[in-house]
Amino acid sequence: MLALALLLACGSPEPATPATPAASTGDDVASVLAKADAHDGTVDKVVSECGGCGLGMQGDPAHAARHAGYELHFCAEGCLQRFEADPEAGVQSLASAVD
Ligand SMILES: [Zn+2]
Repeated sequence: MLALALLLACGSPEPATPATPAASTGDDVASVLAKADAHDGTVDKVVSECGGCGLGMQGDPAHAARHAGYELHFCAEGCLQRFEADPEAGVQSLASAVD
């Protein structure tokens, strides 16, 4: 047990990177949206997966928002409103939905 602990300590130099939540840079948002866009099979600047609930639900064009040059479809009006209240959180939930 002690030997294992020593082995692990030696074998894995700690990368000393604290768990940083994805910084809310424009670049990051763009890459998340690009990934979400491609995730539905077509790269058309339309994200058809709902980023409001983070469940990967299919969005509906009836509940659409524009963000960072993309059109985002939400599965329900409530999801659209949640996104509009906090777009950054919505993008992050979209990121986890398409990951
Ligand atoms: Zn939703």
